[in-house]
Amino acid sequence: AAKAAGRGTSHFFNDSLRQQAESHLRLHNEIKRGLAENEFAVHYQPIVDAASRRLVAVEALLRWRHPRRGLVGPGHFIPVAERTGVIRALGDFVLRQSCRDLVAMQRAGLDIRLAINRSSREFNDRRTVMNWLEIIDESGVARDRLTLEITESVLMPDKARQHRLLRRLNAEGVGLAIDDFGQGYSSVTYLKKFPVSQIKIDRVFVQDMGESPEQRALVEALVKMAQALHLQVVAEGVETTEQADQLTGLGCQMLQGFHFGRPMPLAELIERFGPARSSRE
Ligand code: C2E
Ligand code: MG
Ligand code: MG
Ligand code: MG
Repeated sequence: AAKAAGRGTSHFFNDSLRQQAESHLRLHNEIKRGLAENEFAVHYQPIVDAASRRLVAVEALLRWRHPRRGLVGPGHFIPVAERTGVIRALGDFVLRQSCRDLVAMQRAGLDIRLAINRSSREFNDRRTVMNWLEIIDESGVARDRLTLEITESVLMPDKARQHRLLRRLNAEGVGLAIDDFGQGYSSVTYLKKFPVSQIKIDRVFVQDMGESPEQRALVEALVKMAQALHLQVVAEGVETTEQADQLTGLGCQMLQGFHFGRPMPLAELIERFGPARSSRE
């Protein structure tokens, strides 16, 4: 009886695993089709200097202009793309497109940096990472204009191979930032050992800041720690003037959030932030 029950259970389990694998495979193929048919686009969100409130950088954020589902955000397909490996093709697309767009921004007079997200999965393959340098160089963008945003999980002690690649990228001139800081594994000793130049405070901390003095003290502690390690601090998810002013007061160097602009297409960014506008200020 125990054996029969065991078999029944595993049969059920295999069934749902198979269903999941099939739905992942469908999405994987759909992403490949979407890439071939030019359905993916990169939008740009402003990052401003806290003191002057001027545009100093943009973050590239992937979007899928799906023929039936409309504009789809990365939360709906990146996790599966990471699992099936198609994240590498998406990552190459984002890098190539955003470097090209950065050249257009520079031609339009925007003297800014570009931040690009990378999944930890993309660091598994050395050739993928080395190929990024070729993509950057071919675009004509200076390597030191770029910051790659990685998550704390990449810094875990068991990721020696990834760490070598991060050091190599940084030695080649590419900047590194820790995204969603405070959300995961954050060992200060570990952070100190890495060639990271920036942390981005996760938006949950920024959003809770108005709620209590304790929450504010928490953000202050994160900023102080970053300063002690000589890291730049970017606050994410800034939605109000009050948040912007508080974060500036606490010593954040850069601010990003809907208060300064949502992620937008290249043309809109140039239209809103191009020097034709700012030079007449
Ligand atoms: P992230 O890197 O932390 O990017 C910031 C996310 O917060 C973006 O969501 C952005 O639209 C959103 N956001 C910015 N300001 C505000 C605000 O004031 N309020 C609120 N509520 N949200 C704000 P998005 O574009 O949906 O991207 C989600 C995540 O998907 C990103 O989080 C990033 O981890 C990942 N992602 C996006 N593009 C790429 C990519 O090209 N490659 C990889 N590997 N991951 C990407
Ligand atoms: Mg990011
Ligand atoms: Mg992120
Ligand atoms: Mg983030």
